[in-house]
Amino acid sequence: MANYLASIFGTEQDKVNCSFYYKIGACRHGDRCSRKHVKPSYSQTVLLPNMYQNPAFDPKNKMNPNQLQTHFDGFYEDIWCEMCKYGEIEELVVCDNNNDHLIGNVYARFKFEEDAQKACDELNQRWYAARPIYCELSPVTDFREACCRLNSGEGCQRGGFCNFIHRKEPTKEMDRDLELSTKKWLRIRGKDEREATRSPSPVFEGRTRA
Ligand SMILES: [Zn+2]
Ligand SMILES: [Zn+2]
Repeated sequence: MANYLASIFGTEQDKVNCSFYYKIGACRHGDRCSRKHVKPSYSQTVLLPNMYQNPAFDPKNKMNPNQLQTHFDGFYEDIWCEMCKYGEIEELVVCDNNNDHLIGNVYARFKFEEDAQKACDELNQRWYAARPIYCELSPVTDFREACCRLNSGEGCQRGGFCNFIHRKEPTKEMDRDLELSTKKWLRIRGKDEREATRSPSPVFEGRTRA
């Protein structure tokens, strides 16, 4: 029975736990959802809801697509560098969605859970672009599950209102730049001593220990 429950946790068959919250870290029903949103006690991922204020969604926006991309690249670089202060990050995802629960959401997955915890604690005391930062540990660790499969390729009919993440991509140059400077930074910093003691992630990380 326990095995069965573990196997359906957070899936459509699970009538208790919300599959959207589990997979995407946010669901359109928010606190009014009839299924449970179980906040993890440990996670590698920090979610900063509604953090990217995309000027494209401002009705008074006068920026052209190039300027919008530059604005986004600047934001992406800022967040990437800020997160690196707390530890090595494995992935940074910014939502391009337009619906209330996903608009501007930023997810940062750290290599180590304790770095995610530290980032979460400290960022909750800080401000970004004149707004207080709010963040939380998120159950999302697999962004392939969280992102809409149609976002790239033929395109998703629901567009910005899709309930899966539509990822906003930085330019290739920015991405490459950050990747190279992060590698350089890691080389200079040297090997993390936690590396050797790190055990493979249990399948239900962040839940069974909650
Ligand atoms: Zn829900
Ligand atoms: Zn979609």
